[in-house]
Amino acid sequence: MTQPFSIAIHGGAGTILPEQMSDELKAAILDDLEQSVRRGHQVLEQGGDALDAVVAAVKVLEDSPNFNAGKGSVLTNKEMVEMDASVMHGKVLDAGAVAGVRHIKNPVELARDVMNQSHHVLLIGEGAEAFAFEHGHAFTEQDYFFTDRRYQQLQSMKDKGLFVLSESKYPDDKKFGTVGAVALDQEGNLAAATSTGGITNKQYGRVGDSAIIGAGTYAENGNVAVSTTGMGEFFIRKTVASDVAARMRYLQQDIHVACDSVIQGELKAMGGEGGLIAVNSQGEVHFAMNSCGMYRACIDIAGKLSIKIYADE
Ligand code: ASP
Repeated sequence: MTQPFSIAIHGGAGTILPEQMSDELKAAILDDLEQSVRRGHQVLEQGGDALDAVVAAVKVLEDSPNFNAGKGSVLTNKEMVEMDASVMHGKVLDAGAVAGVRHIKNPVELARDVMNQSHHVLLIGEGAEAFAFEHGHAFTEQDYFFTDRRYQQLQSMKDKGLFVLSESKYPDDKKFGTVGAVALDQEGNLAAATSTGGITNKQYGRVGDSAIIGAGTYAENGNVAVSTTGMGEFFIRKTVASDVAARMRYLQQDIHVACDSVIQGELKAMGGEGGLIAVNSQGEVHFAMNSCGMYRACIDIAGKLSIKIYADE
């Protein structure tokens, strides 16, 4: 009899409205979510490590132009892509992260390399890229990441003098998002990964929660793994991912109460829009959001697949 294992993923939260989503786009997004969660689940099924499962799942979404991570990332105010990513393994609280990388096809794999092959947790910009090239990552031109839709989205935000979550309402019927995954493997390891292009029209050099361990990503064996999506400035100040873990550890809150207390409670009261995914040490999954949607999927401990978009589903 194998030990329980499960995985959950997200493709970003925000103002995702049925009337703004074409059937074609919806089908493409659902397909990407399914491929991602199945890829990660396959790793777990074969007895692989939770960290390899979450990285495999996130990589599928980074490679899709339909999400705000890797290809299809949003643009900064300098009309460039700058990506953040992080990973955490719950066994000995190992973690790796990168911020502001511009030429790395799969930032989540680079974050894992920072964890496994450097003495550091977080590398940024040029230094992160120098490390990447020394460790076998290919230089990827900005053109690869760039999509017309992101360019139009940026122009629209510049005209308004705003910066926004990739999922927020803007005069465009396509919605895309930051991506993440959490998993429990058969050895009882919990892991989490998050990857993003950040928010549209962000000041270049801005780093969001997706690169910050404890804000966008957290994993602790015997407790919980968390990956978040939302307006990063709030998630950093509220240390959302570690707050969920702390509530479970110190207050003995269950995963559902802990996640909803943070997302529907203090974070929302501060004005922080977004959501998170979490899995506990029994493989129980929870999705929490205070926005009207979050692209999300899981395969639970019974092997049941579920894929959802809207908050009321
Ligand atoms: N959390 C990301 C950031 O602020 C954005 C997102 O989740 O869409 O960079």
